[in-house]
Amino acid sequence: MGIVLKDGLIVTAVDIYKADIRIEGEKIVAIGSQLKKTGDEVISIDGYYILPGGIDTHTHFDLETGTGIRTADDFASGTKAAIAGGTTTILDYATQNKGETLQQGLNNWNQKAKNKSYCDVGFHMAITDWNDKVPVQMKDMIQKGVSSFKIYMAYKGIMQMDDEDIFKALIRSKELGALITFHCENGDVIEALIQESKSKKYTSPYYHPLVRPALVEKEAVTRLLYLAELANAPVYIVHLSSKEALENVIEAKKRGVEVHVETCPHYLLLEDSLYDLEGFESAKYVMSPPLRKQEDIEALWNGINNHFIDTISTDHCSFNFRGHKDVGINDFSQIPNGIPGVEHRISLLYTYGVQLGKISLNKLVELTSTNAAKLFGVYPQKGTIAVGSDADIVVWDFNQTSIIEQKTQIQNVDYTPYEGMQVKAQPVYVFLRGNKVLSQDGGILEQPQGRFVKRKSLKGE
Ligand SMILES: [Zn+2]
Repeated sequence: MGIVLKDGLIVTAVDIYKADIRIEGEKIVAIGSQLKKTGDEVISIDGYYILPGGIDTHTHFDLETGTGIRTADDFASGTKAAIAGGTTTILDYATQNKGETLQQGLNNWNQKAKNKSYCDVGFHMAITDWNDKVPVQMKDMIQKGVSSFKIYMAYKGIMQMDDEDIFKALIRSKELGALITFHCENGDVIEALIQESKSKKYTSPYYHPLVRPALVEKEAVTRLLYLAELANAPVYIVHLSSKEALENVIEAKKRGVEVHVETCPHYLLLEDSLYDLEGFESAKYVMSPPLRKQEDIEALWNGINNHFIDTISTDHCSFNFRGHKDVGINDFSQIPNGIPGVEHRISLLYTYGVQLGKISLNKLVELTSTNAAKLFGVYPQKGTIAVGSDADIVVWDFNQTSIIEQKTQIQNVDYTPYEGMQVKAQPVYVFLRGNKVLSQDGGILEQPQGRFVKRKSLKGE
């Protein structure tokens, strides 16, 4: 017994065409016409679009900061919000804390996600404590389906790694076919600028972007890309935000450096005037890197269309305005960094990207699903609509208007950076490996159906 989705418009990274889809078990088993077999459920979706389930490659659910504050969203509310927004797989950042093995980090994150996740979940492993045992542990991680890693060039004294260790990690990643993702900001300079700012009693959130200027990002990007060139290793830059940094990516690509780039909806839609708000309101937008200027926004959209940017993910890291962010009311450097977004990524990019003519519908699929699956080792199991792929399918109504509001969101956080923005994209059905986990009439299925996603290395192993 299967399910037939009838008369929808199928959209992949390269095609748009009208056809029926037959789902059996967890897979798409046929695409064409007259697919119904005895006992099948037929769902008419005439007038709607069928996109592969979104893949958000950058979330932080159930994350505890160094000062003991835990994110507002755990794996239950975070992955439920993902499903509500048409995302069926997330890749969260598991982290090796100082003194731990990578396996201990993975165990911790497996525990956080276990039996709670509404969408499928994979992990990158953030390395914060490089030592002689880590190269062996990296191989072990890949065998367990954690084929990508993360290194921070910022957060001095907590996560930041120095150039020697970065270089060693890059050499090892090349041997293993692993992809390392990088947070590119110069943490030493940021630390000095924070101290300078505090010495002048500049303590409000207004100063957050001033201690993390675009040049701090550009410097780290440039340095990383030379290290990658020296190691002959591919790299992935997370949350790229500035025109300056993008210019160096383009230059490095011309030299032959294999660099992949992610940006986030907030860098495409919001600008740094949000740090001028009354009172403490700007704390809602304290994330790193900070929001930039209109010319950066334009450069990023151009970068997307010129194939310099591969993925758009959210860096969802939600902290409540009251009770979390306000620990930094007298010192912006204490405000927990991060904003929510996993729920609204695709509807925002459809409305303010596709509808405004900035990107095509195919590009939307490429940026929010297909490229992520290819880069992180789950293609074509996920990331496209094809026979044999997981039936991770979102049926979209692109004619339904709604307003983003904190009070109606699924994300378990007391604000949204997109409050009041109108979107014209609504999931009508979401299928996760063939399970109908959302229908517009019935809401979200209450039992979590998410599973761990085992991913391959760049070598295909
Ligand atoms: Zn992040």
